[in-house]
Amino acid sequence: MPNGNQLSAIRLHWVQVPLHEPFKISNGEVSIKDAILVELQGKSGESGWGEASPMGGSFYSAETPDSTWEFLRNKAVPGLLAQPLPQAECCFDRLAQFPGEPFAKAGVEGAVWDLRANQAAVPLYELLGGGRRPIPSGAAIGLMPSVDELLIRVNTFLRQGYRRIKIKIMPGHDVELVRAVRNRFGDIPLMVDANAAYRIEDAPVFEELDSYGLMMFEQPLGRKALAEHAELQRRLRTPICLDESAEDLESIATAIRLGSAKIINIKVQRMGGLAPAKQAHDSAQAAGIPCWMGTMPELGVASAQALHLATLGNFRFPTDVEASARWFKDDIIVPPIEISDEGFIQLPKGPGMGYKVDMEKIERYRIRLEEFKP
Ligand code: MG
Repeated sequence: MPNGNQLSAIRLHWVQVPLHEPFKISNGEVSIKDAILVELQGKSGESGWGEASPMGGSFYSAETPDSTWEFLRNKAVPGLLAQPLPQAECCFDRLAQFPGEPFAKAGVEGAVWDLRANQAAVPLYELLGGGRRPIPSGAAIGLMPSVDELLIRVNTFLRQGYRRIKIKIMPGHDVELVRAVRNRFGDIPLMVDANAAYRIEDAPVFEELDSYGLMMFEQPLGRKALAEHAELQRRLRTPICLDESAEDLESIATAIRLGSAKIINIKVQRMGGLAPAKQAHDSAQAAGIPCWMGTMPELGVASAQALHLATLGNFRFPTDVEASARWFKDDIIVPPIEISDEGFIQLPKGPGMGYKVDMEKIERYRIRLEEFKP
């Protein structure tokens, strides 16, 4: 053990799990969930799992499953094997020598957190500084072909207990949808997500939506439009929540300084791991801005780890992490993520993330495997 590395092997598993329905946003859709699972095998028997979860295609982010795989096998994995295993909170800093690739970094970093929690025999939330509490979950509904189909969906998710309903909007399909949902379901916890589809010239749409008592407007304007978001927020009572714009710590700091949002959606995959996501949570908390935990969405490993982080105190709104069965025909963890009749997710007690990776399912859905030894 010349460099004190505690790993006997690292395995990368690229899996493809079918979705129940295409995942649609205002600029594209996918029907298969790609994920690259990072398995760390410790010399003393413990293991750690992480998930790098870029979307297939490139409409959602610059990173693709292919670019993530290449980065993991050529940069991140050799880097991890060449030096002593870092403490979990230092892993992201070590990866900072490589630019970009937040999804791949989140996969490696999550695996190190899980391994460290397993080595210490503590639940992951404890290592992250959180405490076990039920996490409220909200349902997100994509753009539907008709208002009637939207109302049917809303009804289904309300009956399943979800703690809030989020509907996607786009220019031409906005006020009408909100009005229909409000007319039918009354004062339910409701929000809209525009996925950056509007421009500041569209402010009157949001001024009209302002009277519907929505929890928040998620990402009305473009990713880089922080000043415009601040201008829009000044004209509205409803809080603006940044999602696409909250892409890294620097952008979040700028948004806070400009007053671009009153709420921030934090995504572990986009931030590049649990440590930077926790830093984002902490800086928002220091500014008096509440957060919630978003998702891309991911399979069970990344979802579970995000939920552990979501036990921190400034995650104050329902998470977008839904039951495994919501998106996927199958999930690769046991038990799957489930929500209670009251719309909460209760994490297992651990150790680590508390959910087990199901190797049979990994083999069933795997399209590529590579093993690395020190
Ligand atoms: Mg969003």
